[in-house]
Amino acid sequence: MKRWSHGPGGEAMTGWLGFEDDLGPKRVIHVHQPSLGLQGALVVDNVAAGPSIGGLRMAEDVTVAECFRLARAMSLKNAAAGLPHGGGKSVLRGDPKQPRENKEELIRAFACALGDVEDYIFGPDMGTDEGAMAWVKDEIGRSVGLPREVGGIPLDELGATGFGLMQAIEAAMPATDFELAGARVVIQGFGAVGMHTARFLAERGAVVIAASDSNGAVLNDGGLDVAALGDAKRQGQAVADFPGGEALDRDAVIDVDCEIWVPAARPDVIDMGNVDRLRTKLVPQGANIPITTEAEQSLHARGILCLPDFIANAGGVICAAMEYAGAGEAAAFAAIAEKIRRNTEEVLQRSRDEGTTPRAAAFRLAEERLRRAMETRRWSIF
Ligand code: NAD
Repeated sequence: MKRWSHGPGGEAMTGWLGFEDDLGPKRVIHVHQPSLGLQGALVVDNVAAGPSIGGLRMAEDVTVAECFRLARAMSLKNAAAGLPHGGGKSVLRGDPKQPRENKEELIRAFACALGDVEDYIFGPDMGTDEGAMAWVKDEIGRSVGLPREVGGIPLDELGATGFGLMQAIEAAMPATDFELAGARVVIQGFGAVGMHTARFLAERGAVVIAASDSNGAVLNDGGLDVAALGDAKRQGQAVADFPGGEALDRDAVIDVDCEIWVPAARPDVIDMGNVDRLRTKLVPQGANIPITTEAEQSLHARGILCLPDFIANAGGVICAAMEYAGAGEAAAFAAIAEKIRRNTEEVLQRSRDEGTTPRAAAFRLAEERLRRAMETRRWSIF
């Protein structure tokens, strides 16, 4: 296969930017407009399968290196999901909680600066939401994760990622020694992903016994009323104040004995310092990289099955891609179910056949699909 492994003078290109390899990135664009206080970057990683989709992250401390890692993660997630989209990501420096007029001006100006980069489609991420995507659409006509009023499918309101996580869990059941009906579930991070995962699992007879948010946790061995807890959370109440259970410290959920432990909060919440406290059988990863590599290997060695984030939590991006293709909610949810079930089954089969962790198997699956997409392009380009 032909590879662009050398620069114009024959020199090896790897290491020029510090993060490129033979999968990408295709372009890196720095946007700087001091008079507006605008500084941001776009990394379009790999577009072999189609124009890239990835979120716009707004934070005061974002970096281009972080943007690249997130763009690559999107290339792998989108390739694994079999979407006609590559991976990209954009970052904008600034306080996401600044006054709305300033934030809107920055996001509109950033979108305009990238208006002619047709192989990148903006999506929401940390610090941006569906309203921000509506501003981007208004400026350049290219964004996903839009409000319903302008043709969007409100994925967090509907629970697209939680629905996908539930599909991954169901597909993994034959690899476990317990039934979903009656299984005890713990949810770390009762937000958009966590509360919908709890709802879908409870509908299938699982019993959600504990949940946490950034302020604390709540436990009820007999099962929490997840609908009432969701309502309370949407009204701004902390889970520890929920009257239907016993209040606990935030991290006490790590010690709660259960069959399914769902991380749906932050990266790196489980590491070598606390992994031995987990007493569970299945860890479907709602959050991105919630478990460090070593800790995940240690869970694997203990026979605890981890469903990798970029396979199990792809419901949101699948929904966004379907929205971009003009599909409605029913078609989007059918695509989530079909893709996540098939991928989970394939990853678990490969992990058994190859004697590796599900994450290692998932990486190989995604990379193979990415490389096959590249083979279909003239010059095998990304
Ligand atoms: P969210 O802000 O709606 O919810 C996060 C919840 O986690 C909040 O309730 C917060 O209080 C809680 N939390 C934060 N730190 C915590 C901690 N240390 N312990 C317990 N709870 C804590 O966010 P979300 O959209 O539900 O996303 C959650 C995670 O899932 C993030 O890592 C996100 O990147 C990832 N993710 C989200 C989607 C999506 O569709 N929303 C898709 C893929 C991945």
